[in-house]
Amino acid sequence: MNSRIIKLSDELANCIAAGEVVERPASVVRELIDNSIDAGAGNITIEIKGSGKRYIRVADDGIGMTRDDALLCFERHATSKIKTVEDLNAITTLGFRGEALPSIAAVSNVRLSTCNEGESVGTDVEVNNGAVKSVKDAPPVKGTSVEIKDLFLNIPARLKFLKSDTTETSRIIEVVNQHALSHPMIKFRMESGGKRMIDTFSTDNRLNRIASIFKNEMVNNLMPVEEKHSSNLKLSVRGYISKIGADTGSRGMQYIFVNNRYIRDRVISHAVYEAYKTMLSRDRHPIYFLFLDIDPKMIDVNVHPTKIEVRFMRQGEIHDFIRDTIRDSMKRVRSQVSEVGVRDSVSEERDSAFSLQPSALYKDRIREATERYVSNHESVFDIPIQDLRLKTPSSELRLSPEMESDLSKFKPIGQIFNSFIILQGVDNIIFIDQHTAHERILYERLLSKMRDSRIEVQTMLLPVNIELPSKESLVLQSNLDNFKKLGFDIESFGENSFVIRSVPSILSKDDCKQAVKDILDKLLVSEANLSGSEQRRTGFDEVINKMILVMSCRGAVKAGQILSIEEMSSLIKELMNTNRPFTCPHGRPIALSIEKGQILKGFLRK
Ligand code: ADP
Ligand code: MG
Repeated sequence: MNSRIIKLSDELANCIAAGEVVERPASVVRELIDNSIDAGAGNITIEIKGSGKRYIRVADDGIGMTRDDALLCFERHATSKIKTVEDLNAITTLGFRGEALPSIAAVSNVRLSTCNEGESVGTDVEVNNGAVKSVKDAPPVKGTSVEIKDLFLNIPARLKFLKSDTTETSRIIEVVNQHALSHPMIKFRMESGGKRMIDTFSTDNRLNRIASIFKNEMVNNLMPVEEKHSSNLKLSVRGYISKIGADTGSRGMQYIFVNNRYIRDRVISHAVYEAYKTMLSRDRHPIYFLFLDIDPKMIDVNVHPTKIEVRFMRQGEIHDFIRDTIRDSMKRVRSQVSEVGVRDSVSEERDSAFSLQPSALYKDRIREATERYVSNHESVFDIPIQDLRLKTPSSELRLSPEMESDLSKFKPIGQIFNSFIILQGVDNIIFIDQHTAHERILYERLLSKMRDSRIEVQTMLLPVNIELPSKESLVLQSNLDNFKKLGFDIESFGENSFVIRSVPSILSKDDCKQAVKDILDKLLVSEANLSGSEQRRTGFDEVINKMILVMSCRGAVKAGQILSIEEMSSLIKELMNTNRPFTCPHGRPIALSIEKGQILKGFLRK
């Protein structure tokens, strides 16, 4: 009987493999840079056009390939990096499967030029959608260059899944950043559409490399994790983490490298959060760059199609070792805490948090909770509204419709924790969250002014310079018009530099830089989560709404700010003029009430 099973052609098999390995332009760039690093390059240049969909070129000055190898490298499972099954147990190169080039070639047009070290003639190979088109002599240029054109042109389904140009480009930048961070001795240059995005110099100092990618300002927020070795785990750890109080609103700046390979790992990430524990409020995230050197026998790198995850033996012990190493470093740099500019009133508390002893005292716990509240409210814009809906206040704390309809019957009598306004009525006390209340007011005001193009603008006396990492500057560049509509006059000023000439009046001038950065943070996160067509659909309104959310949060009075009774009254009056006075723009409640009856009951008077 005839067999129903057939063995797939190499061509089809390569296309299937490509599905796993080559997800998007950034995966092509990742594989090509991996190869350049494995070839011992000292210089790697990356050029892209059309966010990599049209054109990618990665060139290096590594060892190059012979003509035979230049052809063999497009065959499946052809690699110079391992020979035997045992080799899989101790991988020291970034690549080892021999899958990348055939997978890439299956879904694009590739041209590879290379010259084997010491030979006088090089080789030029062209491969179109998996088929070798030509093999020619090439000039003896040191190293290898790989050019990719028309990626995914033969698989329209994949093309459709790609996101906007800005997003795809920023993913490529991210890949280059990851490699540049793990290999500071290699000089990386990247251009997109002829514009220089990354240019690093060779250094043996990791902090210098971090600075040339993320700019000096960010580096000032870091403290070192002193190198620690465990002979037991055959592991060394070192790196840099954000100082206490210098955390951020997103997980964007978290990097783990294992034997100079960028990886994602929940367990290690968890160890870092554990080390920060009480010092990190909800929705805040540490920055970290952790470099692990581990005996390759203690890990399995052959567990993920794009090799972005590894499996650790003795994961639990590694977790604790990393957590403890970070805690030790935090203790050592205690004295630096005041440098990060935390408010004096809380720095004492943070200092004590540094000693990492559980504070059993009730008084301390209250202070800690208050402090957490304070810092929480400086970064409320991260919580998805759906999550909050599930957490509406318990019914006995909710305001009744009668209360909601007429708050003017209630009189402001003061503040507690310098954060909540107390209103007293005949039968109730109402607490108003001053920050979210003000946020609601500003949000609606900005939204309506924005609609009638009436946003008030203040011109900076001295224009403010702002230098941004490549990804952020890309997003800013493509949103300059949106910023303009909101009252930010920002001008691009050479590569990755901008000048802020005016800002919306609700922002304090000191705040404007941070506000721009926060907005970019939000835009980056949301860009990455939407596909290209979704981005076009949501487009402008969504972007503007996000920007207004950040601005109202930035502009609103903070928790911890003392208000006069008059200020409280006018805040409440303005709040009642908004469309939704009892829910903040992020979905949090603004007011809670306690009945006099509950208080009487507590005192056993009822
Ligand atoms: P892998 O990296 O897993 O071995 P690839 O398909 O990425 O698989 O590459 C196949 C082989 O081609 C590599 O093992 C290497 O010998 C050779 N090669 C690829 N890129 C380069 C390069 N830039 N310089 C030198 N050799 C290269
Ligand atoms: Mg490879």
